[in-house]
Amino acid sequence: MNDINTKESLPYKRVLLKVSGEALMGKGSFGVDPEMVEMVAADIAHVAENGVQVCLVVGGGNIFRGVAAATKGMDRAQGDYAGMLATVINALMLQNALERRDVGTRVMSAIHMASIAEPYIRRRAVRHMEKGRVVIFAAGTGNPFFTTDTAAALRASEMECDALFKGTQVDGVYSADPRTNPDAKRYNELSYTEVLTRDLRVMDATAISLSRENALPIIVFNMHAPGAFSAVIRGEGAFTKIVES
Ligand code: UDP
Repeated sequence: MNDINTKESLPYKRVLLKVSGEALMGKGSFGVDPEMVEMVAADIAHVAENGVQVCLVVGGGNIFRGVAAATKGMDRAQGDYAGMLATVINALMLQNALERRDVGTRVMSAIHMASIAEPYIRRRAVRHMEKGRVVIFAAGTGNPFFTTDTAAALRASEMECDALFKGTQVDGVYSADPRTNPDAKRYNELSYTEVLTRDLRVMDATAISLSRENALPIIVFNMHAPGAFSAVIRGEGAFTKIVES
């Protein structure tokens, strides 16, 4: 991994990284791969140690998704609450991995669970970041019928982040699925409106709309390589930037 530049020369002061549940799953098809958690934590630690204020929204799709449970007859809202609890498990795993690297962290949950996480209080979250702590936002928005992508757009807007980094399994947004279509073309830059009108499905429409309303740039990149987040923060490697046209 290359050394990252100092805070002064980096284009970002405060960023939000959305870590999907799938990113923590590694090559498995369910749950958490401890090696992946270590890899992601090392990458986040590297960025935070070099002066960028970092907050995270973690997904839960590696453990439970309300929509999937609803197709099998479960009440959707109840399933979504279970999904939000899944994000808390992932948040605690990431917190543990970061703290073993001496990175100060706080987990803030949108659903009150005072024994394991602080309640989400916007001004307190800002203060944590100003003190150099990585804030991990758990339990999504705290509401069923939303996703953690929307939680990421919401928290990034509230925290006045310079950008939302969306770590995925592919290195940006493509015109078609690059895993099945060899002619798929990767976009370097897209507007929010293009993402919505072409139904590019990189994030759900609520998350894209919220980002558009708040002029929050979204950077989509592949998180499945060591140092991927550090590289994209420096503007290196492949990624797609979603901004206003
Ligand atoms: N969820 C929710 N409200 C939120 C965020 C998440 O109800 O604000 C639930 C929903 O059931 C979702 C699950 O939590 O399926 C896990 O989140 P998500 O699917 O966004 O995780 P990811 O795809 O990033 O792993």
